[in-house]
Amino acid sequence: MEKKNSIPVVMAVGGLDPSGGAGLVADVQTLTQFGCHAATVMTANTIQDTHSVKSFQPQSAQLVREQLEVVFGDLHPSVVKTGMLVNAEIIDALIAVLQKHPQTMLIVDPVLSSNVGESLSEHSLIYALRERLLPLATLVTPNIPELSTLTGVEGDPAAGASKLDKSDCLVTGTHRNTEAVINAYYKKGRLYREWTWPRLAHEYHGSGCTLASAIAAGIAKGQDPETSIDAAQRYVFNSLQSAFSPGGGQHIPCRLQINEKFND
Ligand code: PLP
Repeated sequence: MEKKNSIPVVMAVGGLDPSGGAGLVADVQTLTQFGCHAATVMTANTIQDTHSVKSFQPQSAQLVREQLEVVFGDLHPSVVKTGMLVNAEIIDALIAVLQKHPQTMLIVDPVLSSNVGESLSEHSLIYALRERLLPLATLVTPNIPELSTLTGVEGDPAAGASKLDKSDCLVTGTHRNTEAVINAYYKKGRLYREWTWPRLAHEYHGSGCTLASAIAAGIAKGQDPETSIDAAQRYVFNSLQSAFSPGGGQHIPCRLQINEKFND
């Protein structure tokens, strides 16, 4: 029997970044800030700091599947948010579990590499992600390089997004050479709404993870995707404005915003 939770449970599936800037730590901080409980399944352990990714070690797909199964069987997460999925085996493990829980909503941050381009995936990931996981997603949140890699379309985000016409996508514009950052929401390949944000000065570690988790939280609380996307961007922008630099490299978004309320 389904248990009713007053605190929504979101399952975050992704990599562990020991700097705490990105990956599962970013997910847990964000989901907690939005009043959700974060269940976590680790797909990979990474060696990285705020400067660079040195290497990563994938988890076995069997371990990922068993962790997902026991948590699904017990906590009944209504939303799954994915980040670093590493390879096709892990994607297929996730899909096998999602097929047993078809009511689950899925937010996919299609992580292929770090913010500065260091690989966080194996070759098998891209096809499995595009062909098998993205069609199951409630929302996909690619940045421009991820959109290009997934679709093979360079330099034209609208044309790229039109190829992902089985999914709804929020394409983030940080990597575009524009004065402001324009985030564009496409529904089944067609532009639906854009948001324009001032471009901030620094490089940030974990901004994409923060955005996708904040959207997942809104959806877990019963908001429609557009409302969740809207609130999530305000939260991310605030967290970037108050980002800090505990190491010497990229800034880390300040996700704990005790004076702000995003939970309404
Ligand atoms: N997940 C993990 C484990 C990472 O290490 C990174 C980046 O290094 C990401 C996701 C993506 O981070 P961002 O939100 O900066 O795109």
